[in-house]
Amino acid sequence: MTSGANQSIFKTPREEFLFPKRPDGREYLYFAGNSLGLQPKRARQYIEEELEDWAQLGVEGHLKARHPWLPYHEFLTDSLAGLVGAKPTEVVAMNTLTVNLHLMMVSFYRPTKSRFKILIEGGAFPSDQYAVASQARFHSGSVGFDPASALIELKPRAGEATLRTDDILATIERHRAELALVMLGNTNYLTGQCFDVATITRAAQDAGAFCGWDLAHGAGSLELKLHDWGPDFAVWCSYKYLNSGPGALGGCFVHERHHRDPRIPRFEGWWGQNKQTRFKMGPNFDPIPTVEAWQLSNPPIFQLAAMRASLEIFDRLGMGAIRRQSLALTSRLIEQVGRMTGIEVVTPRSEADRGGHVSLRVPGGHRRWTDALEQAGVIADGREPDIVRIAPVALYNTTQEIDELCTILRGVAQA
Ligand SMILES: *Cc1c(COP(=O)(O)O)cnc(C)c1O
Repeated sequence: MTSGANQSIFKTPREEFLFPKRPDGREYLYFAGNSLGLQPKRARQYIEEELEDWAQLGVEGHLKARHPWLPYHEFLTDSLAGLVGAKPTEVVAMNTLTVNLHLMMVSFYRPTKSRFKILIEGGAFPSDQYAVASQARFHSGSVGFDPASALIELKPRAGEATLRTDDILATIERHRAELALVMLGNTNYLTGQCFDVATITRAAQDAGAFCGWDLAHGAGSLELKLHDWGPDFAVWCSYKYLNSGPGALGGCFVHERHHRDPRIPRFEGWWGQNKQTRFKMGPNFDPIPTVEAWQLSNPPIFQLAAMRASLEIFDRLGMGAIRRQSLALTSRLIEQVGRMTGIEVVTPRSEADRGGHVSLRVPGGHRRWTDALEQAGVIADGREPDIVRIAPVALYNTTQEIDELCTILRGVAQA
């Protein structure tokens, strides 16, 4: 299948999104959807409906709102399952990414004196790094290990920018007796490399470790089959490719093999309690026999309303078509930028290893480039010291915009 083949049949639902405007009223070329996705027009209506129902109904809205608040998160379950390739019982929208990562480590990072190490990406997103390091410190005193030696960081080979699957597998093999958890991002936020989730998960579990994935740059961007690939857990945020707004609720996957397993510890709250007896307010926790047992609190309805507006678009198009369009766009960008002198494409060229954004290493530091792009009406994002990330989002960016961007980049390169 060539990535260009579907270009013409995929109609981007561009008109369903709101684009930031330049001072002169024209729309920006927006390539930062991997940082904050654009607002679906329908989000306002869905949030306003909840404001109206709250005004009209007060507490009765829990049962009588047009979309009752009590089960509101369930209205998103099937969409989330389709999005990440899971069973509906395996996915839930709750909390935010780093919070969910900690909750998942309560269940799936249970170090012992001999098996306490966590394998992560070298240069992982800082929040992930802080989360795993603090979990290791938290357990180190009572279990008795040195937290400074708990993290194993994957690094590319000298002279290479991205990781090789074989090297990841060899690292797992080398540490197989001491690995407690393998926790990677399925697309590296900096390089745009995406990983072979199925193969790495199998290797981690064969070694006797739990395996979890951070899908911050995967959910809404990649075609995922979490149930079949079998990781123990996954977490993601919804304000990037999932266009659910700043601070949107995160998502969480727990494989069904763990749902009824009493050996898996968990932090608990009333929203994880059996729905039949939740309002009897009894002292004993009777967990919902799904991932919902990990829910703590009743969720924010306005945030769920915004997410519902966005997920409807994903439902309609399906992740297969979205991923094909994303590859068509990133291929077009890589092809053109690859011919410009001075700019290095960091993101792998092979489609199987490429996530939803393209990272460019630029001469003279990123600020020179992002400032020039902004002047030319382009929003992209720069990372220290010399990386510019471009995210062509399948839902609202077009091939024509890629070509316009490349014209601008050529101009900056020659300036
Ligand atoms: C965006 C991102 C986060 C953000 O974490 P929040 O808890 O949502 O603030 C964490 N990890 C990765 C890999 C990310 O890309």
